[in-house]
Amino acid sequence: MTIDLRNIFEQVILGYDFEDKLHQSDLPGFPYPLYGPIKLYGHVSTNAGIVTLRLRAEFKAQLVCDRCLAQFEREMSFDFEHTLVRVSDEDYLEEYDNYSDDYIQCPDDKLDVTQLAGEDIMLGMPTKILCGEDCEGISYDSFFESVNYD
Ligand SMILES: [Zn+2]
Repeated sequence: MTIDLRNIFEQVILGYDFEDKLHQSDLPGFPYPLYGPIKLYGHVSTNAGIVTLRLRAEFKAQLVCDRCLAQFEREMSFDFEHTLVRVSDEDYLEEYDNYSDDYIQCPDDKLDVTQLAGEDIMLGMPTKILCGEDCEGISYDSFFESVNYD
């Protein structure tokens, strides 16, 4: 889904909400099977010339525990925030560059939210996935069963 930001950049309107859905096919390289689509709730607003995009992604995925290798399903939600800038805004970009590179340029005042959210979700996934805080890992019984000592 592509959102049009012209009225926001021009400050014709000060903000609006939108919703979108992402499917497994929107997330190439996402290694976890999804249960249904990812629900995306977005809000874009302008305040004193700064345009901010807030995204919330909610989904249920089948994960694999890094410690005990069990498969389990988990509902996850992530919140993301981005500053959006017009490509034409060279001065602003230069100024902004001085203290952050965490902004997103929007050619033709448009933004592909599906792609951005997909990247956010990929980056937002924890590097270590555990089935539970108290996961004790692979039990010794099952570990030794799987090893051949002949
Ligand atoms: Zn585990």
